[in-house]
Amino acid sequence: MKQLFVAGEWREPIAGGHREIRCPADGSLVDTVAEATREDTLAAIGAARVAFDEGPWPTTPARQRGALLYRVAELIERDKNELARAESLDTGKRLMESEYDIDDVAACFRYYAGIAGTDSGRVIDTGRDDAISRVVHEPIGVCGLITPWNYPLLQTSWKVAPALAAGDTFVLKPSELTPSTAILLMRLLDEAGLPAGVANLVLGAGAEVGAPLAEHRDVDLVSFTGGLATGRGVMAAAAGTVKRVALELGGKNPNIVFADADFDTAVDFALTAVFLHSGQVCSAGARLVVEASIHDAFVDALVARAGRIRLGGPFDPRAETGPLISAAHRAKIETYVAAGIAEGAELRCGGRRPDDPHLADGFFYLPTVLDGCHRDMTVVREESFGPVLTVETFTGEDDAVRIANDTDYGLAGAVWTRDAGKAQRVAQRLRHGTVWINDYHPYVPQAEWGGFKQSGIGRELGPSGLDEYRETKHIWQNIDPRPQHWFHD
Ligand code: NDP
Repeated sequence: MKQLFVAGEWREPIAGGHREIRCPADGSLVDTVAEATREDTLAAIGAARVAFDEGPWPTTPARQRGALLYRVAELIERDKNELARAESLDTGKRLMESEYDIDDVAACFRYYAGIAGTDSGRVIDTGRDDAISRVVHEPIGVCGLITPWNYPLLQTSWKVAPALAAGDTFVLKPSELTPSTAILLMRLLDEAGLPAGVANLVLGAGAEVGAPLAEHRDVDLVSFTGGLATGRGVMAAAAGTVKRVALELGGKNPNIVFADADFDTAVDFALTAVFLHSGQVCSAGARLVVEASIHDAFVDALVARAGRIRLGGPFDPRAETGPLISAAHRAKIETYVAAGIAEGAELRCGGRRPDDPHLADGFFYLPTVLDGCHRDMTVVREESFGPVLTVETFTGEDDAVRIANDTDYGLAGAVWTRDAGKAQRVAQRLRHGTVWINDYHPYVPQAEWGGFKQSGIGRELGPSGLDEYRETKHIWQNIDPRPQHWFHD
């Protein structure tokens, strides 16, 4: 099973391990893939180190690196169907959603292709005519890239494209549940002509692959997307070598609806905000914060529609959303819902697995609305990462902002109102990295993405997403050096 990509070669895992990948929609076998151990990870780190220290990539002109990224974008578009299908089989998400994801992956490569060669640093006015001072950007080195299972290739592209644009080398560790598109991406990078050792892929468990990437002294940066608890562990492990850390750790995102919002549109978007991809979205609008005066009508309308959402597998044309990623993940969501009810929430819909026998082999869970919630409930404080909406009410602008900011997270949030001034005031006061006004979910590769507070460190996408993968150096040259006589001869 040659599915580890190390030093430009497809290799079997040293210990010969393998893992079955099963589709979460029906439990069918998707593939049996290689399962690496720490030894494979160390070999990949070594290959990335050599490629950085001795290979051509870090010194390849940035525009040429950009040209290669354009080729990668074209190859992704060429293979869109294969990539989307593989993503849907691994994640269980609808094929249509995977197709959107692959379009976004290509767009991300194109964006970083475009900006790769546009920033050659700054010349500083030193006030002296005997000195030249320049600030330049250089690649940071070897990057450990650790990605999750909810948007496997998309989250990978947010790391791989800027790392390559910057001139870095990397070891990629995808989630062990969803490795297929990472394997396909490596093939495309190879086909595009990336030098050997620049891109390395190791499939395996967090402890065997992720942890060494965070700890190892030859890794200069670790960029991680996943859960808060794992992220804290990655940060602690990285501290031993004071490496750069970039973290995207999810959110508990408020969707604020004022009474003057367009009612039907706000209800419609409140559903998409939380139930898209069955809530397995780091920016999911899982906290509805609705003005008290419209609470009853709004929640009634929302519950009526949530109860009609059709569940199904990736290739079911009637399905509107898919399964959860695993049995363990569904069990975790069941625990959160039970805790919410025990702490006083009112279950308005869902709260259980579907009855449909066709869905019995998948990890499905009905869209769930918990009303009468407050900040002290576990299900409001912690990220369930599933199709669970909690409802809180507010009276007035200050109260809305206070509730929306009363979370350890700070990834994203939305505000719904027809009052443009109020929308801007609230948007400015929200302590979240992305704020939507009268919308939910859109993002573009040109704009930064990332979290305040415990939602993470650093930014992906946009120019800052490239800066994460670069060092900044100041070069000073005295062009007329003479003795200073600071000290007496
Ligand atoms: P994890 O945080 O456990 O996994 C994310 C990635 O980290 C995976 O590739 C995982 O590998 C890897 N990993 C696991 N342990 C370590 C380690 N010790 N050192 C380095 N890397 C490690 O997420 P889960 O998949 O278990 O999901 C748990 C929760 O995380 C979800 O319920 C959700 O709340 C949140 N989450 C947030 C995401 C986001 O977009 N912000 C995305 C996915 C999850 P492996 O898969 O092999 O365990």
